[in-house]
Amino acid sequence: MSSAIRPFVYEALPYRVIFGQDTLASLREEAARLGIRRALVLTTPQQVEQGHVAGRHLGDLLAGQFSEAQMHTPVAVTERALAQVIGQDIDGLVAIGGGSTIGLGKALSLRSGLPQIAVPTTYAGSEMTPILGETSEGIKTTKRQPEILPDTIIYDVRLTLGLPVPMSATSGMNAIAHAVEALYAPDTNPIISMMAESGAAALVRALPVIRDDARNLAARTDALYGAWLCGACLGVVTMSLHHKLCHVLGGSFDLPHSETHSAVLPHAVAYNAPAAPEAMARMARAMGTEDVAGGLYDLAKSLGIRMDLAGLGMPETGIDRAADIAVQNPYANPRPIEREAIRALIARAYRGDRPQS
Ligand code: NAD
Repeated sequence: MSSAIRPFVYEALPYRVIFGQDTLASLREEAARLGIRRALVLTTPQQVEQGHVAGRHLGDLLAGQFSEAQMHTPVAVTERALAQVIGQDIDGLVAIGGGSTIGLGKALSLRSGLPQIAVPTTYAGSEMTPILGETSEGIKTTKRQPEILPDTIIYDVRLTLGLPVPMSATSGMNAIAHAVEALYAPDTNPIISMMAESGAAALVRALPVIRDDARNLAARTDALYGAWLCGACLGVVTMSLHHKLCHVLGGSFDLPHSETHSAVLPHAVAYNAPAAPEAMARMARAMGTEDVAGGLYDLAKSLGIRMDLAGLGMPETGIDRAADIAVQNPYANPRPIEREAIRALIARAYRGDRPQS
């Protein structure tokens, strides 16, 4: 009898995860555990209030708050925050927010060596990865280093109850994209496949409930749990065509992150499906449909997500440019990268068409 298990390498990342409802109450204890005595709380301008709540939980360990985190982690913002770190003698970071805020925490930790606690409030998954994308003068560079990974992650479901439904939907699709690409990653393994399938299934189940009832605690719990699993996949295996395309499109045309992921995902899956039967079988189980690409498109539509990149601000002339960039450097992908097929894929996503297998 031959086994379906192929040889693999499994390497766990060293983080501590606290998951539940009202877990933010453990923030002071978790900060103390890392030896933090003077914490700086990080947020975006939109989440100042949640930063104050975190500050109250830190009590005597709170030294300050910096609330200027921005999308794409601009280096100029990081430098302003770093001046506050030095000026206030900060010895630990608490990032409360989505991928933008967690990115700032990572950028500061990388420069200062300070311990970091991430408190995610979206489903993007950055808290689970040793990856940092930063922008300077319009150019985005990405680093992957063990020191970038947050030390402790506190998932508090209650912090996600107010995440607006449109953002919940696109952020959830962003997380599902991590799971899909983890399933056909060249360096995937059986543990990651289990996590990816469970993570995708939890989100597919939860997102329609959240659309109808944004404060549904059970669905919010499932979604955040799914996001954790999908983020953990993103942190350890190599991403392929879908993430490459979103990186190119987002960077070239300044498109919003999770919305771009949502619009591209069904098309990237349709492109790769014939070359990734095992991954598709797992996704079919997670989604309850054999047509994974079509199912993802229908799910996104039913969640009210805008599916045309044109509507997100991409110019039509960008289709060729994006296709050129996407085929330039070789990267892992189950199906060979063919320019004309990639161009057609981008054109369909530009128009918001149904994916074509
Ligand atoms: P975001 O962090 O930019 O958040 C979008 C907006 O929603 C912000 O204004 C934020 O304050 C607000 N918000 C977040 N949570 C909220 C809540 N619970 N209630 C109300 N408002 C809330 O969006 P994102 O999609 O989480 O992150 C996108 C960024 O993260 C991009 O720059 C992307 O490149 C990066 N990212 C990095 C990684 C990585 O591994 N390095 C992974 C995923 C995303």
